[in-house]
Amino acid sequence: MEEFAYRDGQLCCEETPLEAVAESWGTPTYVYSRRAILGTYEGYERALAGLPHLVCYAVKANGNLALLSLLAGAGAGADVVSGGELFRALRAGFDPQRIVFAGVGKTREEIREALKADVLCLNVESAAELAVVDEVARAEGVRARVAIRVNPDIDPQTHPYIATGLRTSKFGIAHDEALDIYRAAARLGGIEVVGVHMHIGSQLLKVSPIADALERVAELVQALRGEGFALRYVDIGGGLGIRYKDEAPPSHEEYVRALRRTLEALGVTVILEPGRSIVGNAGALLTRVLYRKRTGGRQFVVVDAAMNDLIRPSLYNAYHEILPVRKAAGPRETVDVVGPVCESGDFLAKERELPVLPEGALLALMSAGAYGFAMASNYNARPRPAEVLVAGERSALVRRRESYEDLLAGELLADDL
Ligand SMILES: *Cc1c(COP(=O)(O)O)cnc(C)c1O
Repeated sequence: MEEFAYRDGQLCCEETPLEAVAESWGTPTYVYSRRAILGTYEGYERALAGLPHLVCYAVKANGNLALLSLLAGAGAGADVVSGGELFRALRAGFDPQRIVFAGVGKTREEIREALKADVLCLNVESAAELAVVDEVARAEGVRARVAIRVNPDIDPQTHPYIATGLRTSKFGIAHDEALDIYRAAARLGGIEVVGVHMHIGSQLLKVSPIADALERVAELVQALRGEGFALRYVDIGGGLGIRYKDEAPPSHEEYVRALRRTLEALGVTVILEPGRSIVGNAGALLTRVLYRKRTGGRQFVVVDAAMNDLIRPSLYNAYHEILPVRKAAGPRETVDVVGPVCESGDFLAKERELPVLPEGALLALMSAGAYGFAMASNYNARPRPAEVLVAGERSALVRRRESYEDLLAGELLADDL
């Protein structure tokens, strides 16, 4: 997270002190570095030089319009998994011919929206969905470009909630059933088969499972070509991991190096769908200490951010580094950092050694750019945090903090019935 560093004892995002961000927009607030986002995106572009490719940023990792338009402006495509994400991606300015649409449960309406927008490709996840895409496409008088999501049955060696390419997963089609569904697709008038899709999981820390999965997909592509399918795209999904604590994820170069030969031999355009690896380490969640309390032999630090703002610790037992915004050299203690939500599962860190943090101190939860705000909720009627984008010494509020009125939008009182 090199765009977040101490300058004169003050934690900054680029050249902007986080204390100034908190002063301007309060807490809890997500803060993103423009340089870090563009840097990781361009890292992919550099590593892929010489290979026909399209980097489709996975909108689900962080769908903020400013971040999306930044990436669209840099030339990225988008990977969307719902009609809502498609709407966001189009509004942010992504070229529809650079948008791919995945998801195991697309509705007819979502399929129609994707076809109307003329997205590059629908990544289809079942025979039943294929039939519906065909039906909707024919009703619209178009042919839907599709890739079938194949399940390579490779263990990605990650958290079970984010492993998606196992045989027993709800995603995609088992590898040994893939040929049959491609043959069925070839007979459908509303379908144009253009590729194969895979996505084996998230926060992958080794390239070997991706390379193994790609090998299996490559065999399938060759078999399909033997049957006359003209496949243009191999979509290898996203999933490259990031460093939260002491992980050592592969670099963009290592990742591409492990796949390049197979892709070159296939002579296809490779589509990538990175989410976490583009924005994860480009964002932090800024929060303020409300109270210190000692009970049951434990020291708690109660902060103004909670599981509704950042659910990853509660949901995956995920680790987020915590840095005091004002560098503290004094004594250290072991604490639980918890939020105000009425659940014991509401914690941001457990048994963490930190400098002694007084009430009012500002903290940054690091590596919170991906699946942070995107998974935020209004649980406990908590307005979702503000989001700020930093560019050098400038910072802009790119999503205002929700208001109490926002919380009630669309609701009625019983006596209005
Ligand atoms: C979640 C998801 C991604 C992005 O995964 P990251 O781990 O954030 O890179 C890409 N493609 C599909 C189909 C996904 O479901």
